[in-house]
Amino acid sequence: MSLISKRVMVTGGAGFLGSHLCERLLAAGHEVLCVDNFFTGRRSNIAHLLGNPRFELLRHDVTFPLYVEVDEIYNLACPASPVHYQHDPVQTTKTSVLGAINVLGLAKRLRVPVLQASTSEIYGDPNVHPQREEYWGNVNTLGPRACYDEGKRCAETLFFDYHRQHGLAIKVVRIFNTYGPRMHPDDGRVVSNFIVQALRGDDITLYGDGEQTRAFCFVDDLIEGFLRMMGTPRTVTGPVNLGNPHEITVRELAERVLALTGSSSRLVFRPRPQDDPTQRCPDITKARDLLDWSPKVDLEKGLESTIAYFSDLLSTGGKARPR
Ligand code: NAD
Ligand code: UDP
Ligand code: UDP
Repeated sequence: MSLISKRVMVTGGAGFLGSHLCERLLAAGHEVLCVDNFFTGRRSNIAHLLGNPRFELLRHDVTFPLYVEVDEIYNLACPASPVHYQHDPVQTTKTSVLGAINVLGLAKRLRVPVLQASTSEIYGDPNVHPQREEYWGNVNTLGPRACYDEGKRCAETLFFDYHRQHGLAIKVVRIFNTYGPRMHPDDGRVVSNFIVQALRGDDITLYGDGEQTRAFCFVDDLIEGFLRMMGTPRTVTGPVNLGNPHEITVRELAERVLALTGSSSRLVFRPRPQDDPTQRCPDITKARDLLDWSPKVDLEKGLESTIAYFSDLLSTGGKARPR
C-alpha cells in the first residue's frame, strides 16, 4: 500500500491497458474512478474490480465535458487497434482531441497532474530508426491511419499548450506496441490475431511479406512505466517513449507463436494495409534515465501468459476469468 491514498481517474479504464492500470492503482491503495464509454472496452475486463469499494465505474464519452473531483488523471480513452480506430474515424479524432480538451479543462480546474497515453504512431512510418523522442515523425495526414495519428499528435500539442499557457503538470508517454491478457480477441492486432489463429488451427495471416518489424512490450512492464512517469517531479513532462526495444519481424513473431502453442497452422500472406509502418522500435534512453525504467518481461514469458489467457477465453466461449 502506498502511504498517500489518492482518488485517481482513468479514462479508457475498461480497455486492455486501462483495466490493468486500474488494478495496479487499487492494489497500491488508491481510489479509482474508471471512465469509459465501452466502445472497445469490456465489462468483463473490470468485472472483478466492481465489488471493490474503492472502485467506481462511470459510463461516459470523453468527447463531452465531465465534472468530477479527483487528485490525478490518466487519459487512455481511445480505440487503439487499426481495425477499431478506422471503424469510425471521425469519432476517433474527436475522442483524442475533444477528449484531451475536456480532460485538460478538468485538470486545469482541479490543478491536478494529468498523464496522456500517446503513441509511437505519432512517428508515422518512420525514416529514423530506432525512434527517439526528438524525431518529429512521418505521418500521411490524408491516409486511413491519420484519424488516430493526427488525433494523438494534436492531443500532445494541447497537453504542451496547457502546460505552457496554464502551468498544468503534464506527463506524456509514447507507448509502443504492447500486448498481454485482456487484449480484445477481435481487434485485429497482430499478437491477438496470431495467438487466436494458432489456437484455433486457422491460417496465420502475415500482411505483406511479414518482414516489417515491431518491438513488443508486455503489459505489466508498461503499467510500471505509467506509474513511474506519474511519480516524477513537476518539471518532467515528457514525451517519454515506453516500449520494449527488442525488435523482431512479424514473421518471427508468427513463428514464436506457432512454437509456443504447438499449433500446426499455416502461414498465409495477405495484402499489406496502406501506410503500415515498415520498421518500428523505441529508443528508451529517456525512460531509463528519467524513470529508471526498462522492460523486465521477455517475449517468451509474455507470450506464454497471453496464450494462457486466450486459451482460457476460447475454451470458456469468451468469458475469461480475470488474471
Ligand atoms: P483499448 O481499445 O482496449 O482501450 C481503449 C478504451 O477507451 C476502451 O475501454 C474504450 O471503450 C475507451 N474509449 C474509446 N473511446 C472512448 C470515448 N470517446 N470515451 C470514453 N472511453 C472511450 O486499447 P488499449 O490498447 O488499452 O489502449 C489504451 C490507450 O493506450 C489508448 O489511448 C491507445 O491509443 C494507447 N496506446 C496503446 C498501445 C498498445 O499497444 N496497446 C500503443 C500505443 C498507444
Ligand atoms: N471541462 C470539463 N470539466 C471540468 C472543467 C472543464 O469537462 O471540470 C471542459 C469544459 O467543458 C471545456 C474544456 O474542458 O470545454 C476546456 O476547459 P478550459 O477551462 O480550458 O476552457 P474553457 O472552459 O475556458 O473553454
Ligand atoms: N499484422 C499482420 N497480420 C495480422 C495483423 C497485423 O501481419 O493479422 C502486421 C501489421 O501489418 C503490422 C504489424 O503486424 O505491420 C503490427 O500490426 P498491429 O495492428 O498489431 O499494430 P500497429 O500496426 O498499430 O503497430
